[in-house]
Amino acid sequence: MVTMNPEQVAMHYIDEVYKNLEATHAHEPEFLQAVKEIIYSLAPVFAKRPEYMEASLLERIIEPERVVKFRVAWEDDNGKVQVNRGFRVQYSSAIGPYKGGLRFHPSVNESIIKFLGFEQIFKNSLTGQPIGGAKGGSDFDPKGKSDSEIMRFCQAFMTELHKYIGPHEDVPAGDIGVGAREIGFLFGQYNRIKASYLPGVITGKLPRFGGSLARKEATGYGTVYFVQEMLKEINATFENQTVVVSGSGNVSTYAIEKAQQLGALVVACSDSDGYIHDPSGIKLDTVKDIKEVRGGRIKEYIDAHPEATYVEGCENIWSIPCDIALPCATQNEIDADAAKTLIANGVKAVGEGANMPSTLEAIDLYFENNVLFAPAKAANAGGVAVSALEMAQNSMRMFWTFEEVDAKLHEIMRNIYKNSREAAKEFGHENNLLIGANIAGFLKVADAMIAQGII
Ligand code: NDP
Repeated sequence: MVTMNPEQVAMHYIDEVYKNLEATHAHEPEFLQAVKEIIYSLAPVFAKRPEYMEASLLERIIEPERVVKFRVAWEDDNGKVQVNRGFRVQYSSAIGPYKGGLRFHPSVNESIIKFLGFEQIFKNSLTGQPIGGAKGGSDFDPKGKSDSEIMRFCQAFMTELHKYIGPHEDVPAGDIGVGAREIGFLFGQYNRIKASYLPGVITGKLPRFGGSLARKEATGYGTVYFVQEMLKEINATFENQTVVVSGSGNVSTYAIEKAQQLGALVVACSDSDGYIHDPSGIKLDTVKDIKEVRGGRIKEYIDAHPEATYVEGCENIWSIPCDIALPCATQNEIDADAAKTLIANGVKAVGEGANMPSTLEAIDLYFENNVLFAPAKAANAGGVAVSALEMAQNSMRMFWTFEEVDAKLHEIMRNIYKNSREAAKEFGHENNLLIGANIAGFLKVADAMIAQGII
């Protein structure tokens, strides 16, 4: 009889769990991708702590505590009734109330919400704040809709969602397609239904009605703070580095802002139609005016700056040579070919502002070529961390200054980096922040699940 060492036993266990999941969830590729990335990196933990296997922790943690799917019927400006699908995946409440954003985008389906919800468990744990993992959204497309259509959709969405959320149960926030305007409409409808005023039910609110200062900036700034720590490994800073940022939404805008404040030359950004390349440096005021003020398209940038170029289609943004790549748009935007191009052009670091922007093949290539890699669930955790600070301020009925929140965010990002690095070292994968972040995030949740009995 062949005996297996603890690492092999752990790997066999993970293989079995993954094979079963694959057999039953073949139609959910994004979810499988996220699970695969995380659970295989936990092998050293199961090898050292077999009690986690005996407690079937993996089987438990990959199964959401609850998945809610609902109809959202709303009336458009022509008086026609439109129907969309709404989702809320309440993944894990082991360390706090469910917490995670809402995404409104036509690509939204159960697989995408589950991948995001699963990642959120580990990310939220890494922040050190008492928040569980969740995600939600709808396949509603906000593009081209009037303000009143957006309002009616948000009200219809919340009319169903309110049954499942609350300040102590589940606290949503924004994500792609859900910014301060949508959060305001959702919040207003929740309070109307509850005949109450409960600021702790949702985060990302405008500061004038219970939102936190620096929440808007938090994910982008946090990503740059994390990469700043990581660059110390090669004695580098952002000063004079050429940076490419994808997207031009919430995360991208504030990643660009912080990178520029730290002396970087940000030369490109994009939207889902195409990208702009401005070798003299992106003028962020123009991007903010187009995207935040006018809700326009990034190609309008060249009207104000004809020296820049606009390229239709966003895939080739990664062919622009850069020292640091910050993918901040969407999942799987850097595939193996894009990663090879970045590497051939000498990229030193990749910091993920978006969720799962690199494919598994791209990540392998970063490691094989010694590219510093800041994985999403650690690098973009600043947004949800400040959301948790917003919840704290709402509970205390207090309001911290921008500087206070920014200082706390900076400290949280430094801690996430330190804890991920230490976990990687402790479990035999020094310098691998992907494994380190997964392990550090997992351990806290795993211990909480064990301590609370079979949950
Ligand atoms: P926004 O909606 O504000 O911006 C998204 C940006 O990405 C837009 O420029 C959008 O272009 C572009 N984009 C969206 N889909 C695609 C696509 N399929 N291909 C190319 N470009 C695309 O969203 P956020 O900035 O909030 O979110 C961006 C990413 O960051 C997401 O992965 C999100 O999950 C993640 N994230 C966000 C957090 C937050 O606090 N907001 C927190 C942690 C992670 P267009 O305008 O044309 O749609």
